[in-house]
Amino acid sequence: MTKHLAIGWFPAGELEKALALWPDLLEGWDASGYAEYCRGVDRHIRQLELVPGTDVLLAPIEVKHYVKWCAREGLDSAAPASRATYAMDVAGRGRVRHWPPAPGKRCWCGRDEAYEVCCGA
Ligand SMILES: [Zn+2]
Repeated sequence: MTKHLAIGWFPAGELEKALALWPDLLEGWDASGYAEYCRGVDRHIRQLELVPGTDVLLAPIEVKHYVKWCAREGLDSAAPASRATYAMDVAGRGRVRHWPPAPGKRCWCGRDEAYEVCCGA
């Protein structure tokens, strides 16, 4: 049986909005821009001890929608656990990218590079 794991990430443009709201979002990440942030997300996924056959889905977090969603659900938008819950919700609606991308395909982060030379390098 395939298990799904949804990982939330802030796409380009959204990361800046997220950092304006939650300045310590990337504390301890050693990432100063979007590209480094995405590499950090990718590294994080590779370090997870995944059950074989787990389908990893990357769920884009749109800040405005996310904050509204948290208010509606009664969740603290600053809490990492809320982002994880939101990621599952986004995945349930099918708005995800599969990880890792197929060989030679464009990277999940949205940059015009193959995964192998971008976040998967
Ligand atoms: Zn990338």
